Amino acid sequence: MGKRVLGVGAHPDDLEWYTGGTIAQLARAGAEIVFVVCTDGDKGSYAPNAHARQLAARRRVEQRNAADTLGIAEVIFLGYADGELEANAHLRKQLATLYRKHQPQLLLAFDPWKRYELHPDHLAAGRAALDARIAAKMPLFYPELRAQNLAAWAIPELWLFNADAPNHFVDVSDTLDAQRRALEQHRSQTTVWDDAARAFIEATARANGKAIGANYAEAFRRIVIQGALVVAEGT
Ligand SMILES: [Zn+2]
Repeated sequence: MGKRVLGVGAHPDDLEWYTGGTIAQLARAGAEIVFVVCTDGDKGSYAPNAHARQLAARRRVEQRNAADTLGIAEVIFLGYADGELEANAHLRKQLATLYRKHQPQLLLAFDPWKRYELHPDHLAAGRAALDARIAAKMPLFYPELRAQNLAAWAIPELWLFNADAPNHFVDVSDTLDAQRRALEQHRSQTTVWDDAARAFIEATARANGKAIGANYAEAFRRIVIQGALVVAEGT
């Protein structure tokens, strides 16, 4: 059985944008991957007359299609309002419940310490994803979940994307095209798949590739934890 991987994004397209090449690699290696998308992306348009609910519905379909191209097992939509995500106790419990249910061995999440990150949802999603990891692994959190057979689960490895200080680089030379195909499913997001965005993604991947002598790479802050101890950082 492949590795169990869970990714937490703020918006439909975040996981593809920041980790699409890595996700494609993991899927090809047989990983069982679950996406959690915290907001419905209903502000994701620059057209003043866009219909927010219709946009959110469309983006769900786009997200599912993108996940299909990457071989994702399941996409879970939490449905929070775009732009208003908060790393609060409610979101923490929702994510902790999902961690206990899916028992991921690897968590992909936003780096909540990214300097000069301008989107509040990215910071909130990262913060909540990490706060939930602690709540999921401590059995005295949410005793009511025990009745649902959702016992404590400690995620042993984190790869934080949009990382402030990357220490782990995944060679995505073989999967850059797969990432592009996934991003192209987000057709409502013209900024995601226009020529400038393609060039930006390629230039970023090329710059990251230099760190490991690859053509293209994606960058992460990797943290490995045993019990309460961080036992490894980086590769
Ligand atoms: Zn986003």
